[in-house]
Amino acid sequence: MNKGYVWLVGAGPGDAGLITVKGLHCIQSADVIVYDRLVNPELIALRSDHCEIINVGKEHDYHPIPQEEINQILLRHAQAGKQVVRLKGGDPYVFGRGGEEAEVLAQHGIKFEIVPGISSSIGGLSYAGIPVTHRNHASSFHVVTGHTSQGNEQQNWKILAQLEGTLIILMGMTRLMDICQQLILYGKSPTTPAAVIMYASHSKQKSVTGTLETLAAKVEEKELHAPALIVVGDVVNLAETLSFSPTYLTLGELFPTLENSAEEAIS
Ligand code: SAH
Repeated sequence: MNKGYVWLVGAGPGDAGLITVKGLHCIQSADVIVYDRLVNPELIALRSDHCEIINVGKEHDYHPIPQEEINQILLRHAQAGKQVVRLKGGDPYVFGRGGEEAEVLAQHGIKFEIVPGISSSIGGLSYAGIPVTHRNHASSFHVVTGHTSQGNEQQNWKILAQLEGTLIILMGMTRLMDICQQLILYGKSPTTPAAVIMYASHSKQKSVTGTLETLAAKVEEKELHAPALIVVGDVVNLAETLSFSPTYLTLGELFPTLENSAEEAIS
């Protein structure tokens, strides 16, 4: 009997310690790990000795492996009876095409399971001192992409500009100036607080805060670029008070009993 199985696992936003316990178990049990660029290498290092790893790292405007081929890689290994982990940044179903990958598996009768992860669109903000909601500042949040796929309609900035909640824009950095201008054009105040967080929760995280009017120039000056989150709303003002220095534990420190400590396996 073919026992091939695919886990679509969320790796979390960057800090290795933010993987779930179940996700870590999948990594350690996998025969094959198919992973993206934003996945922390410390997590890959926790695989077993026999595990094959395949980097299908996707970058904006640079897709070394087309999605169709990624789907085929998953199918091929599952059909060969392997335990496959598809390790994706953040949560597998928040953008990043996890839904499409699962559909292909379902269409081919491959058994699969989703292991959710902490999405950069929620958890990532907290590492820059920004709570996604706050009783006094935002009673909803809205996560959108700034980069719609070819042929699709543009985002409806007119509607988005009218929302009171926190607006979080993924994949928007190449259009940052335009996005800020559209939101102002459709009625948001130019002084609305706004931030960009690059590499949220990674040790190389950098963020910039400003307003819809000033953000793009500040980001250019500080040379921030993708992967980054754009955050718009009053909660951004809390960053001054709520920023913290994260404790970065390696997985070897978090789980001293792991056979492969992350440091050993990476070196
Ligand atoms: N599934 C992922 C999102 C994939 S889409 C999640 O749940 O987080 C990829 C986009 O997500 C990037 O272009 C960027 O806008 C955002 N992103 C993902 N991880 C990030 C991080 N650590 N820091 C900043 N932005 C991140």
